[in-house]
Order: sequence, then structure tokens, then C-alpha cells
Amino acid sequence: MKGAEIGIEDLEGFFRGLLEKEVVDCLVMPHAAGKNIAYMLVTDPKRIESSPGKAIFAPSFGVNAAGIVKGWTVANKVGLVAKPCEIRAAIELVKLNQMDKDSLLLISVDCSGTFENQVYADHSDEIGERLESGKIEELKGKGIELREACKICDSRLADVGDIAMVRLNGDKVVVAGLTNMGEAALTALELQLEDKEIERKEEKARIAEEAKKNEEALPKISSIEELEAFLQDCIVCKNCRDVCPVCYCKECFFDQPLGNPASGDLLNLAELRGAIGVPANQLFYHLTRVYHVSTTCVGCGACADACPKEIPLTRYYPVIARKVQEVFEYEPGKDVEEPLPFVVYEEEELEDKLR
Ligand code: SF4
Ligand code: SF4
Ligand code: SF4
Repeated sequence: MKGAEIGIEDLEGFFRGLLEKEVVDCLVMPHAAGKNIAYMLVTDPKRIESSPGKAIFAPSFGVNAAGIVKGWTVANKVGLVAKPCEIRAAIELVKLNQMDKDSLLLISVDCSGTFENQVYADHSDEIGERLESGKIEELKGKGIELREACKICDSRLADVGDIAMVRLNGDKVVVAGLTNMGEAALTALELQLEDKEIERKEEKARIAEEAKKNEEALPKISSIEELEAFLQDCIVCKNCRDVCPVCYCKECFFDQPLGNPASGDLLNLAELRGAIGVPANQLFYHLTRVYHVSTTCVGCGACADACPKEIPLTRYYPVIARKVQEVFEYEPGKDVEEPLPFVVYEEEELEDKLR
């Protein structure tokens, strides 16, 4: 693929150029908000902050940026600069007809694993700008741990979307066009493009092996009783749904009286069954949601971060979703042209899975 090597200090000019040359009308990109990292929506090239590389490569996760642009049906062309799990979610949203691909320029950036935003803010000096495995272990020894979702993530190198931003050793970055749209954007910036190899097979294999080991070490939920115990503190606040980039129904069943019974409805249910657990529908809510996101979950862990009861949802949603995705041999967000498994009808499929 074609790309160019630039200095990390050149990223400011790179993003300004995208706006100045009207490659995009706006950019949704990370920026430093005090010691935290947050997203901003920029339309004025002059408002691109200096040294944007610090924020875009920072090992910090607040929200999944695909959720910010979910459902946008605007004529403007939006550039989204985000980590691979966020770009993969945006690609799933395109496939789910929640966004128009032609109005999105997706720029994925290398990710080395992330800390919850608050953890990052509290320890940003110790964490520093770059994370290598030695550093991750050293921080772990001090009780500063990566998010569980990042420990089991095997797709953190930038290789999705229209442009990949690959962080090299030192302060160099390769920007590579992954699609015609991406390459056209780089050409518009008058970068000298040449062939670039960014596949990094060995590094990907090492990351995948580490992620698999970490996933295998997670406590398992092996029965409905164990799932009930896992969810016992859930207050059905639905934060996990609201922050999930790929949960997109406009009218959620669990906001309707049947899915969210109150007062008389709740009493009627209790009378019918003799007794019911309250808050109602804990299990039903999570079983429904896992079914809805089982093929599209990108394992970002935003749901776990958002849970006020600190239920480690990464052990449930991404873990189950990955099993379903393996059955369908489907990798969410990898390829915008690949159809969603549930919309493809094959007369004979999954025969070996049928009882
Ligand atoms: S889930 Fe993967 S891509 Fe997303 S923040 Fe964590 S390591 Fe990075
Ligand atoms: S279910 Fe959780 S891990 Fe999966 S995409 Fe949604 S927020 Fe991310
Ligand atoms: S965020 Fe936590 S408490 Fe709220 S519905 Fe989800 S699992 Fe339950």
C-alpha cells in the first residue's frame, strides 16, 4: 500500500491540511483535556491543537468514538481519528446502515493497550507517552493495570479504515492509505507516497498469543446460575447499552413497558409467578443485548468502563461475542464490504452445530 513517513510533530499540519484542503469538513479526534484524554469535534483548522500525536496515541480510553458519530446522517464529510476498536465499530455501523461510508474518512491509529481515562489521568506521569510490554509489567507491579478489554484485544495495530497511522520507534509515524479514499486524502495533502509495508505479521502473532493467554485466564461464566451470580448487582441502568457503539436500536425494547415493567405491571408479574427478582429483567436484558451485539461487538470494553456497579462486563460481552464470531468466521469491522452474518442466508450452513 502507498504511504509516507512523517515526524510525529508533522501531525498537526497533517490534520490541519485535511480541513484546509476540504478533504473532510470536520474531524472527531482525541485531545488532551487536562490530564485526561477526550474527543473534540473540530471544523476550524486553526483549532487543531499543537502536538496532536500525544493525545491520539495516548494509552487512555474514555468512550468509543464510533458511538459519538453513530446515526449521523449529515451531508458533511466527517474524519474520525481513533483506535482500531473504535474504527471497527464505525465500520459495523456503516454495515448496519447507521452511517454512510462515503461521508466518513476513517483513520485508525496504533494502540498499545489503554487504561481507564481516570487511571491514566491519575498516573499519566508514570505511564508516559509510550507503552511497551516491559513498561506494562512494571506498571502492573504498581497496581496500574490495563483495561481488561485491552488485555484480551488481539487487533490493536492500525490496519482498518481508510488510513492507518503506524507509530514507529522514535518519533516517526507512517500514514498509509488502506482504501482509494484514504490514498486520495494523502495525495491531496501532497505527501510523497511510496510503497509501505505495515502488515507486521510477527507482532500481530505475538499480540494474538498474549491476548489468548489473557482471555483463557479470565474467570469463566459457564452456566445460567453463574451468569445470574455474575449479574446480581446489576441495577439495569442500561449504561452498558448507551455507551456501546454497536447497540443502535432507536427504540430499545427495554425502554418499553414490557421490557421495563413498573408498578402495576410489576405487581401483575409478581402475582402471575408468585415472586420475581427486582430490579426486573436483569438476565433478560443482558441475554437480549448479547444476542444483539454477538456478531458486531468489537471488544472495546466501553460497557465495562461505564458500569456503575463495576461488573466486569468484558468477561461476558466480548468473550461470548468472539465465540459467535468464530462460528460465523466473521471479524467485525475488518472489511466494510463483508456482509453481516445474520443478513446472509445460506440453505446449508452450520450443519455441524445443529443438534
Ligand atoms: S480494545 Fe484494543 S484497540 Fe481498543 S483500546 Fe483496547 S487495545 Fe486498543
Ligand atoms: S458490547 Fe461492550 S465490548 Fe462489545 S462493542 Fe459494545 S461496548 Fe464494546
Ligand atoms: S451498566 Fe452495569 S448496572 Fe447498568 S445495566 Fe449494565 S451491567 Fe447493569
